[in-house]
Amino acid sequence: MSLVVSSEMPPVFWSSPSPAWQRLISRMIGLRLRTLLLALLALPPLAAARVRLPHVHIDRMTLPNGLCALLVERHEAPVVNVEVWYHVGSKDEKAGQTGFAHLFEHLMFDGTTNLGPDEFSNYIVKSGGMDNAYTTEDATVFWETVPSADLPVALWLEADRMRNLSISERSFKNEREVVKEERRQRFDNQPYGNVVEVLYQHAFTVHPYHHVPIGSMEDLDRASLAEVRSFHDTYYVPNNATVVMVGDFTSAAAQAMVLQYFAAIPRGAPLRRDIPAEPPQKAPRTVKLTQNVALPAVIEGFHMPADGTPDAYPLRLASKILSEGESSRIYRRLVYEKQMALDAESEGNFTEDPNLFFVFAVLNNGYTPAQAEAEMESVLDDLRRHPVPDAELDKAKNEILGEFIVDRQGVQARADELGSDAVILKDPDLVNSELERFLAVTPADIERVARQYFVPDNMTRLEVYPDGKSRQGSGQ
Ligand SMILES: [Zn+2]
Repeated sequence: MSLVVSSEMPPVFWSSPSPAWQRLISRMIGLRLRTLLLALLALPPLAAARVRLPHVHIDRMTLPNGLCALLVERHEAPVVNVEVWYHVGSKDEKAGQTGFAHLFEHLMFDGTTNLGPDEFSNYIVKSGGMDNAYTTEDATVFWETVPSADLPVALWLEADRMRNLSISERSFKNEREVVKEERRQRFDNQPYGNVVEVLYQHAFTVHPYHHVPIGSMEDLDRASLAEVRSFHDTYYVPNNATVVMVGDFTSAAAQAMVLQYFAAIPRGAPLRRDIPAEPPQKAPRTVKLTQNVALPAVIEGFHMPADGTPDAYPLRLASKILSEGESSRIYRRLVYEKQMALDAESEGNFTEDPNLFFVFAVLNNGYTPAQAEAEMESVLDDLRRHPVPDAELDKAKNEILGEFIVDRQGVQARADELGSDAVILKDPDLVNSELERFLAVTPADIERVARQYFVPDNMTRLEVYPDGKSRQGSGQ
């Protein structure tokens, strides 16, 4: 998971409703994301199995008001990344309030009783640092990377907006318009921009993953200042927050700062999360969309278990085998061999609650969704019936290993991993043990999860047909 903020872009206006989802949309509009890790594929077979990553030492503290802090000292560069994870995302939104978590992310930059709008980011930028935030289905994350000497400033700023946020009717209405524009730009006016949203609406019947983090225009319009304030009082409280710090500090001094700035913030009421579980799907669902796109497309979503569960690890490896790189199975079959697709991939959206594993393809002119679906099914069927050769599984493990290594080179990616392990998977020590779970996966595990999850009764399929208004064959 990563966010790249260009210097031209005002940082507060950029957020990621869901990294996996964003990647999917990027791929569907033809921007294949090239892995940086191709060199690792040259590792000899089983190289991954011999690798041990350096142990990460985590200092942790819990304040009387319930705030958790996790600290990792890294002294390679004189910088610190601070992340504040609020355990609230779009799955905490009630019907009629979709988009609230993300809207609220924006409001957190609009001033406090101590600071005016934008002053937060000005302090960070003036220090030579950068800051931003993102909202997913499960969490809202605010981060700053600053020179080590400015760690107290970053912590003071975060504590200030946790305690003293001030939302005026004016800033509320402004941000609501900003979010609506974000929706138009990134979803409503992008080719295939709404397909994932529509797929979720049909794949989930009771669980709030039914709606995606950007929310609906109607709900955003309906949102009132009072509702938004109550959202803050409920979720933006120390007992629902985890502060993650990675970088160049001494842990004892940083812990003293956390106490100094956060200890006086009053604890909020205990959180009640009554999120309904999605019942098992019993039959395939198919939805057809006609829209202004140049080429037909198919996306299939299979229900799968939550991140961190035993089956999540073989499923992540299955995704690599199916679609990481041009020798992967789905890409090879649909793009190279059959030449029926411009792009074809798979990816799991691994989240706190069970989510979807996607297989999708953007087709070449002259091919129908049904043809692509038959090929997809044939590739999945092969995975259900035959063990994956050791060399292919080793290659997938090497790719995972490469991601672990690259992610540990920067303070922010490391803080992201630690925050996600702590808040979403509820076990910060996974930073030291999760790789083992991947390396332990066997060909039989892959076959087993394929049989269990990649079956038609468990699948929602969306077929996208061009309406004929877009120039044919432009290929985006
Ligand atoms: Zn946003």
